[in-house]
Amino acid sequence: MYNFSESRKGVTMAKESSELAIEELKKLLIEKEDLNEVVAGKIENLIAELQFRPPHPFDPAVEKIIQGFTAFKFNKFDKNPGLYEQLAEGQSPKFLVFACSDSRVSPSYILNFEPGEAFVVRNIANLVPAFNQLRYSGVGAAIEYAVSVLGVENILVIGHSRCGGIKRLMTHPEDGEPPFDFIDDWVKIGLPAKAKVKREHGDAPLDEQLHICEKEAVNLSLVNLQTYPYVQRAIQEKSLALKGGYYDFVKGEFKLWKYESHITASITIPIPAVVPILPITPVVPIKK
Ligand SMILES: [Zn+2]
Repeated sequence: MYNFSESRKGVTMAKESSELAIEELKKLLIEKEDLNEVVAGKIENLIAELQFRPPHPFDPAVEKIIQGFTAFKFNKFDKNPGLYEQLAEGQSPKFLVFACSDSRVSPSYILNFEPGEAFVVRNIANLVPAFNQLRYSGVGAAIEYAVSVLGVENILVIGHSRCGGIKRLMTHPEDGEPPFDFIDDWVKIGLPAKAKVKREHGDAPLDEQLHICEKEAVNLSLVNLQTYPYVQRAIQEKSLALKGGYYDFVKGEFKLWKYESHITASITIPIPAVVPILPITPVVPIKK
């Protein structure tokens, strides 16, 4: 049975021991004046971490959040005061990014976007529906704000390998599984991509069809983006470009292509090392 008073006692003891540790660390900082800056900095971080820490590690999710934010605060926020002061005044990201909600494909993580660089929309299968004021207003609002208010210069739609949403689109309702409340209706946005894959690659094994559809759905989203009047206008004014991306987390590579009036050939990242061109040494005539 859960012993509440024992637990309270444990909490109190843990609290006391962390308070003691904080006192000791503070003493160390005051008494040892000759501590070098790095060591002193680490001790200060430790004090702050102990002050933030809950008295009892009762919930791993809470622990994860505390540790995560503490690491961000000390390693990023406090070390770039200029950046965060500037961001506090406003944002002017160059990118609007659509990515899947899949936990493996965070665009900030895989493309190393710093805060302020990318306005991000994430949903199942990174789909952009065509302009429709009666449905999907969440996506529409994000596009309208990013393009009309923030003036992003690029919209990047990123598909990815082994996408569960695309698998659902490609296999339902043929697999006979019971429908979901929301997922099936949502992934239906990708039906034209599914039809194209079935038409052109219907004989291919399912895995291959899924792989192709993951990219076709990106192209469909790029086409759908052009049904938003602000997107059309910005493209005509050449202040906005549409780009498609595909992150393959099995191979660890990223394909990138552009959508202009047609789809350009993709480049694969990492780009294979280019053979360095050696500087040409001028030939000096030998004096006789
Ligand atoms: Zn996905």
